[in-house]
Amino acid sequence: MEVSYNALLTRATQTHRLEKHEIIRLLNARGEEERSLFAAADAVRADWVGDAVHLRGLIEFSNYCRNDCLYCGLRRSKQQLQRYRMEPGEILSVAKAGAKLGYRTIVLQSGDDWWYTSTKLAQLVEKIKRLDVAVTLSIGERTRAEYRDLRLAGADRYLLKQETSDPALYARLHPGQSYHHRRQCLEWLAELGYQVGSGTMVGLPGQTVETLADDLLFLQTQGVDMAGIGPFIPHPQTPLSCCPPGNTGQTLRTIAVARLLLPWAHLPATTALAALDKNGHRKGLAAGANVIMPDLTPQPYHGAYDIYPGKGAPLPADYHQAIRDLVRQAGRVVATTPGHSLKPVKSKDNRGEGTLDDL
Ligand code: SF4
Repeated sequence: MEVSYNALLTRATQTHRLEKHEIIRLLNARGEEERSLFAAADAVRADWVGDAVHLRGLIEFSNYCRNDCLYCGLRRSKQQLQRYRMEPGEILSVAKAGAKLGYRTIVLQSGDDWWYTSTKLAQLVEKIKRLDVAVTLSIGERTRAEYRDLRLAGADRYLLKQETSDPALYARLHPGQSYHHRRQCLEWLAELGYQVGSGTMVGLPGQTVETLADDLLFLQTQGVDMAGIGPFIPHPQTPLSCCPPGNTGQTLRTIAVARLLLPWAHLPATTALAALDKNGHRKGLAAGANVIMPDLTPQPYHGAYDIYPGKGAPLPADYHQAIRDLVRQAGRVVATTPGHSLKPVKSKDNRGEGTLDDL
């Protein structure tokens, strides 16, 4: 006997377990059912991670990349791009400015750029950690030894988005890259004690609602501490330029179901969502998100981190205050803690702030 939509939603908020066909049903919700989904996700968010919104200051320190992902405006084949690398001292200065602005986490992000050796980056991480901030790295695939060295230098977290859990779709979108190696990297990061973030892109060409359901189950199976879920936005200078973009509704529904399945997770209202929809941050926060990643990258670099259209748009003079105002207008508060993992753990470790309750 098919359970009612409301009964399904109630069970999801209580057990955080869903079968694939149930996830698909939620992802297909519209109208009143969609509103109920967002309300349920918002309630789970309030129960598990509270009203605080963590602002993570993002420094995009290099737009060089050795990879050629079909959707990305930084892909190595793209000629029409002024490439840059910030010097470590310059990155540190920006991190200091971010800490002064009150950011409790600094996110260091780049393309897969091995010009920055793990030795160089470890020295930088050590210096940034002295600012009393958490450090998140988002620098792509490295060797296990490099991940280890960066963790030993003090890096707390690592973002490595899988983008899709479908191996065939992954292979089409990521020429020359290995789906299994990326999963291997995620496993290494977890073994090394990082708080691990992964994520998915909504609306990729060839993706179906079934794929999205698998993506969400993948994130749950991995037990990620963070999950970035943002829309695909076609870049005009990539092979996917003619493909339609992802849409706000499907992205929000995916965030909401992620909140039901991963109640502890830090989920950003992504910059890509805000680029697609001017109210994207606010809508994301209302659908289960609890993180925003304001951009600290200075000009001229900011404009050249052209990963999707709109990403490098000039920021208003009151940008950082405006984000804080947005959080308050959403009825939430800006977090004052670094916002470490809240994932329940079965054995004691010193990584998270979470409870020890099992799911
Ligand atoms: S998505 Fe990341 S790895 Fe792929 S081309 Fe862009 S910057 Fe490089």
